[in-house]
Amino acid sequence: MPRKSPRSRRKPDSSQRLPGRVRPRAAPGRGRQRAAKARAAHAPKVAPGRAARPPAGRARTRRPLRPRRAFVAPEPARVAAILAELEKLYPDATTALHHRNPLQLLIATILSAQCTDARVNLVTPVLFARYPDAASLASASLPEIEEIIRSTGFFHAKALSIQACCAELVAKHGGHVPRTMEELTALRGVGRKTANVVLGNAFGIPGVVVDTHVGRLAGRLGLTHQRDAVKIEHALMEVIPRDRWIRFSHWLILHGRETCQARKPRCSACVLAPLCPRTGVTASQ
Ligand code: SF4
Repeated sequence: MPRKSPRSRRKPDSSQRLPGRVRPRAAPGRGRQRAAKARAAHAPKVAPGRAARPPAGRARTRRPLRPRRAFVAPEPARVAAILAELEKLYPDATTALHHRNPLQLLIATILSAQCTDARVNLVTPVLFARYPDAASLASASLPEIEEIIRSTGFFHAKALSIQACCAELVAKHGGHVPRTMEELTALRGVGRKTANVVLGNAFGIPGVVVDTHVGRLAGRLGLTHQRDAVKIEHALMEVIPRDRWIRFSHWLILHGRETCQARKPRCSACVLAPLCPRTGVTASQ
């Protein structure tokens, strides 16, 4: 049976209501009186002149925040040693996405969002065999593109991006992939990461690709304290020599996949361990 509210449990007032007569306020119930007595009995005794301590369980006054340690830019000698180790480790590093021309690399990079390169490489041969250029992709039916790329995930959004991007390539660039960051990022579905992949790997124009691996490793290696991808990109451009920008991204991506994994990096087997401050690493193998 539902519990009644205190107001409804109140005994009916049989006294006659007269104008000007005010009904007395309800006195606190026995339960409340007992609880107040118990609180008073357990209250800590406070010496006169001293402030009472807050009761246990309640928030105490906050400790002042420790000042953040200022980020110290990496020493050039340490950066050079890291680059030398990575170059030795991955001498043939390049993009894992199969492609024959800039358009294929652009489409493959769009498909690689939230998907493995191996999965993309299974899908793109079928896609490019049926739609070999930007014009055919721009005029392709959306459900057909979706069906081919379904296994890469987010296929509806990716198909829309591919179709719209190719339509813009046809309308503004004669069906060719432009060679500047501004023109590339103006295309639908193309951000700085995709643009840097295309500029670096299709045209040899230097740029730092910042994906999840590059962002994570750059922080752990103490190369930057930035968290935002664009800020990481600019910070790395300042500490890495320009002629290494393209390969450096490949090195960090490979090292992130093979050794410096997100959850438990394999620091005990890492060649960079003597050079790495392991910033933010709480557990390793
Ligand atoms: S030492 Fe550990 S944290 Fe540093 S790069 Fe190697 S695996 Fe990553």
